Amino acid sequence: MIAKILINTSVNSLNKVYDYIVPEHLINEVEIGKRVHVSFGRGKNLEEGLIVKLEDDVENPKYKLKEIDSILDDISYISPERLKLAKYIAYVYFCNVYDAIKLMLPPGTKSKNSSKSLDTRKDSLVTLAKSNEQIMQDIETNVIKSAKQIQLLTFLMYNEYVLINDIIDGLSISRSVINTAEKNGYIKIDKVEKEVDFLKDLEVEKSFPLKPTDEQKYIIDSISQYIYDEEYKQCLIHGVTGSGKTEVYLQLIERVLTQGRKAIVLVPEISLTYQTVERFVSRFGNDIAILHSKMTIAKRKEEYKRIKSGKVNIVIGARSAIFAPLDNIGLIIIDEEHDTSYYSQTKPKYSTKDIAAYICKESNAVLVLGSATPEISTYNKAINGQIELFEMKNRAANAKLPKIELIDLKDDRIMGNTSSISIALKETIKNNIENKEQTMLFLNKRGYNSYLTCKTCGYVFNCPNCDVAMTYHKSNNLLLCHYCSHVEKNIKICPKCGGEDISSYQLGTEKLEEELKEAFPNASILRMDADTTVARDSQQKILDKFKNENIDILIGTQMISKGHDMPNVTLVGIIGTDALLAMNDFSSSERAFSNIYQVSGRAGRSTKEGKVLIQTSDPSNYILEAVENNSYIEFFNKEIEYRKTFGYPPFIDILLFEISGQNLQDVKKDAEKLYDILNLNNQNEYRVFSPKSPYIQKLNNRFRINVMIKARLNTKIYNDVYSKIKIFNTKKLKNTSLSITKNPIFI
Ligand code: ADP
Ligand code: ZN
Repeated sequence: MIAKILINTSVNSLNKVYDYIVPEHLINEVEIGKRVHVSFGRGKNLEEGLIVKLEDDVENPKYKLKEIDSILDDISYISPERLKLAKYIAYVYFCNVYDAIKLMLPPGTKSKNSSKSLDTRKDSLVTLAKSNEQIMQDIETNVIKSAKQIQLLTFLMYNEYVLINDIIDGLSISRSVINTAEKNGYIKIDKVEKEVDFLKDLEVEKSFPLKPTDEQKYIIDSISQYIYDEEYKQCLIHGVTGSGKTEVYLQLIERVLTQGRKAIVLVPEISLTYQTVERFVSRFGNDIAILHSKMTIAKRKEEYKRIKSGKVNIVIGARSAIFAPLDNIGLIIIDEEHDTSYYSQTKPKYSTKDIAAYICKESNAVLVLGSATPEISTYNKAINGQIELFEMKNRAANAKLPKIELIDLKDDRIMGNTSSISIALKETIKNNIENKEQTMLFLNKRGYNSYLTCKTCGYVFNCPNCDVAMTYHKSNNLLLCHYCSHVEKNIKICPKCGGEDISSYQLGTEKLEEELKEAFPNASILRMDADTTVARDSQQKILDKFKNENIDILIGTQMISKGHDMPNVTLVGIIGTDALLAMNDFSSSERAFSNIYQVSGRAGRSTKEGKVLIQTSDPSNYILEAVENNSYIEFFNKEIEYRKTFGYPPFIDILLFEISGQNLQDVKKDAEKLYDILNLNNQNEYRVFSPKSPYIQKLNNRFRINVMIKARLNTKIYNDVYSKIKIFNTKKLKNTSLSITKNPIFI
């Protein structure tokens, strides 16, 4: 027997399959979709491959074929349908088929030498064994000298219980650095027990379907019909915050289950909390599998196998759960469909919604997208009839939409107020505290970083490896690069002018917390941002504490805006709005609008009326005016006009070619070459834009230059682009590499 094998290789677009002989002793084990080890080319090492086809022996083979060395999987994980999906992904997103296959293999499957079992210690959690003060002192007195040790320990100061694997991959810290820290008594390595195990930890009472409101009933009935008819259909539920979209999802899932089919529910990583999961578990019990990145690999693998075995009818998870090995899918729900986490930022750079649509089409299933602020492209499709549109204009359970007010910061400046909290907001917080009602204060992500500058010459402390300012952590006088985790400590002198007047600037959550403590010394205040929440369950802990202990004020970044029902929150203050309004990308406005609007939606979700105060220096900005009028449509209409005029998605597609490498000259040269090739015989079917540096030119010591194409993508243009990539010949690139993104959300 002959097996056709797809080889796992890093060589770009090497998707050829190779023939191997199946040796006698493996004949009973071979199966399409199982991985194998084979020797390949002249290499001495065994390479991993995937069996894609089995054939009878050929009579007189032209070449002498090699034998399969061994089979790696007990069962086949890649069905012929999955292989077809992988090919589709590879074609559309310009990657190898094997890159797409990897998305579908069980979690923790190593690419090379995967016959070895999982290193179980890698599934262990690391946490500090000494106090922050002790460690800071040891760093200051040079007891701890190694930069890597400092990097590891400072990271752990902000993050309790981190997976060893996440440290090794995320911080590029080697195992030996971790071992040294353990040996010196700075860290503890525990077996996983702090695991977030939603199903085990949740003590939920069974919930029963609510009597749907008229709006809900209409949607449930309409979409159920498509489910019963087993008809492929895309639907968008555009429902204001608190309109009861989740109840609609729950009742649709029920319909799908009674039909003997299964469902996938995708939520943004950030809203995958107990509160979200609880609503599904209380309705459907243990019929559910949960997949998210804060689970250990072993646990994820266990869930994967449960799904694969057919014991699970509902899968809930973040982006990658779209690849869960669920069969007989009748419904896929993508909640908060505007969320950018649905776009993969690593190879393959896929759009989850496109893949969900593909899967639904193949399985005659229904795709339901839901949001209060749909992505511009999605809503445009809905208006054009490519997606069926359902509107929910009212909040369920009698709650009213909050009152939204803009506060002009220019007035505050005239009054001489230099605090980051305006006079009006301060007054309203005061009243809210007196009424024993809760306040959420929102700072956008860019506004919460603080940077360090030299007051004499204006020097900004940038990361030496990346083209970005490092974040300053005042509490321990450290500078940290959030891209590559480079650390600098005890900065006293400006490296440029030698000046000693160094200070941090920009509003940060820490600074805001200080100001609030000063203004309201008796108030209880909690802070939630990327620094305080990397540990696996800390986000949930903070939210529980805020809710259960009736804390007066919660300060946070975007992450406080997602899906938490806090009935006693009646005031939302939005600070640092202006940085969010700054345009540096065609999609910035869309994200600004949805951020501000979604955060506003946290106010008054119960019987008490909510109020939202938005601080800005630009109250006549169209984004803010639309938020003030509680009108998504008003924003959409302006934005879609802008996209049309300036030629951006959804009116045109973008292909972004990124050349990167360590030497800027090499990168420039190859980018120019690519630009010339893309322009060859171009009969005005697309526009090629000359090479440009991205916003962050250097990242992790690699320079990047982009060449962009704008076109209405179709098969002809795809073929054209593929033939040009062939001429460019990525296999011959020496010091640079090429990656291509279809319709990137950030340019
Ligand atoms: P969304 O997902 O659209 O933001 P939710 O599903 O969280 O809205 O619903 C908001 C609130 O309204 C929740 O507390 C939910 O329990 C309640 N709710 C939803 N549907 C109904 C209904 N039909 N009857 C009564 N309460 C409802
Ligand atoms: Zn860096």
